[in-house]
Amino acid sequence: MALTLFNTLGRELQAFEPLVPGSVGFYGCGPTVYNFAHIGNLRPYTVHDLLMRTMRRSGLATRHVMNVTDVGHLTGDDDSGDDKMVRSAAERGKSVLEVAAFYTDAFFRDTGLMNILRPDVVCKATEHIGEMIALIERIEANGYTYSTGGNLYFDISKFPGYGELARLKMDELQAGARIEVDENKRNPHDFVLWFTKSKFENQALVWDSPWGRGYPGWHIECSAMSMKYLGETFDIHAGGIDHIPIHHTNEIAQSEAATGKKWVRYWVHNEFIVVDKGKMSKSKGGFLTLQSLLDEGYQALDYRYFLLGGHYRSQLQFSFEGLDGARNARAGLAERVRMLAGKVAGPLPAAVDARSVGPSPLRGSLSEAARKYLDAFDLALGQDLSTPRALAELWGLLRDPGIDASEALAAAFDMDRVLGLDLEKEAAATAGAEDPAFTAEMEGKIAERAAAKAARDYAGADAIRAALKERGIVLEDGPSGTKWKRA
Ligand code: AMP
Ligand code: ZN
Repeated sequence: MALTLFNTLGRELQAFEPLVPGSVGFYGCGPTVYNFAHIGNLRPYTVHDLLMRTMRRSGLATRHVMNVTDVGHLTGDDDSGDDKMVRSAAERGKSVLEVAAFYTDAFFRDTGLMNILRPDVVCKATEHIGEMIALIERIEANGYTYSTGGNLYFDISKFPGYGELARLKMDELQAGARIEVDENKRNPHDFVLWFTKSKFENQALVWDSPWGRGYPGWHIECSAMSMKYLGETFDIHAGGIDHIPIHHTNEIAQSEAATGKKWVRYWVHNEFIVVDKGKMSKSKGGFLTLQSLLDEGYQALDYRYFLLGGHYRSQLQFSFEGLDGARNARAGLAERVRMLAGKVAGPLPAAVDARSVGPSPLRGSLSEAARKYLDAFDLALGQDLSTPRALAELWGLLRDPGIDASEALAAAFDMDRVLGLDLEKEAAATAGAEDPAFTAEMEGKIAERAAAKAARDYAGADAIRAALKERGIVLEDGPSGTKWKRA
C-alpha cells in the first residue's frame, strides 16, 4: 500500500519513504495542559492517530512520540503575553504541577473515549529540562545565539533557511513585523531559548542553567524531546496549521542549527475546526469540549465520525446539525453491522488489533468482491489520508448485496482498525451469535419446544416459536435438528 502525504515543506504531495525501511518515526505536538482540550484541539490528535493506524496497516512499525507542555508556553507563541500554566494555576488557586496533572488526565480521558490510541512515548517538558539545556548549549556553541536583557535568544539572521516552511521572506520579516513587546530582540522574529529575567516575578518552575536560573522557551522542548526519542533526523512531524509560521519554523531553525543536519523530512499540518466561522481558542475561553458534547447526549465516537467525514487539510465547520448528521450516520453503520452479524451462522470474524503491523491475516481468504472495497479503502487512505473516501468504501462494502455477511464484516473490521469506530463491538453487542448467554437462552428455548412437541403439546411448542419470532428469531427444523437465526 503506497502512501502519499502533503508535505508542508515544499507544499506538494510526496510519496512517503521512511528513513529506515519498515518503520516510521513520528512526532506530534501535544497539548499545553493549562485547560481542557477543546474540540478543535482534538482534531490533530485524531489525525495523528489515523496516520499511525494507516502506517501500521500498510506494514510499517510506528514510533509515535507526543509531548505534554507543562512549562514555557506563553499566551503568544512569539514569547509575548503571560505564561499559560502560571496564569491558569493562579486563576484556580492551585500549583502549576497540580493544574498540569489534572488537565493531562482529562486529556487522556477525552482521547481515550475517542479511540485515539496512546502514543508510544508521552514526554513531559518539565522532565526534559536537561536535554533542552544540552541542546541550547549546542546551538550556542555553533554561534546562533545572543544574550540580552537576561534572556538567551536565537538569532534568526544566522540561519539562512529561516522561514522556509512557512515561506516567510526574510527581507519582509523586519519591515512587516508588528510592534513587538520585547525590545531586547534584534529581529522581532528572534525567539527566546532560555528565560532568566522572567517577566513574571513569581515564576513557579525554574531551573539552574549556564545562562542563569530560569526556564526554557516553548519551542525548544519539541526539538529536544523529538531528538531524544526519534534521533536527530526523523520522518514526520505534525501539528495544527497555526504552528507553521512560528512554532514549527522556530523548531526547525534551532534543531538544524544545533545538529547541522536536516531534522524532519515530512511536515503534516491539519486545518482548523471552526465554530461560527471563527477560530476556536483555548485561551479565549467559552469553547466546546468533548465533555460538553457528552453532556448534550452525544458519544465521543460521534465526534470521531464527524472528524473522519472531513479531509484533515480542509477547514471543518463545527455545528450541532453536523454532529447530528455524524451521529445518525454512525447509528446507520451500527445497524448495518448488526444486521450482517445476525446473518452469520457461526462465530463472527475476529476484529483486527489496531496496533498490529501489516495486512490482516484474513485478507488473503476474502473474495475478490470484498477485497475490491479494501483496495479502494487503502487507496483512499494512501492518498494523503482521505478519510471521507475511506468511509464511503466502508459504506459501499456494507451495503453490497453481493457480498457474504461474514466476509463483509471481516473486511469492515479490517477497515475499522484504522477508522476506530468500534464496529466489532456493535456486531458483538447485538448479534447474539457471539453472546454466550444469548446462545444458551436460544438453545434452552429449542430444548423446551422439543420437549413440548414430545409431550404432544403443540400449542405450547408453537407459542415458543411465536414468542421468539416477536424477538426477530426464526427457528428452522432440519435433518440435524432445530437451528435459530435472526430474521
Ligand atoms: P495547544 O494545546 O493549544 O498547544 O494546541 C494543541 C493542538 O491543537 C495544536 O496542534 C494546535 O495547532 C491545534 N489546534 C488548536 N486549535 C485548533 C482548531 N480550532 N482546530 C484544529 N486544531 C487546532
Ligand atoms: Zn511542538
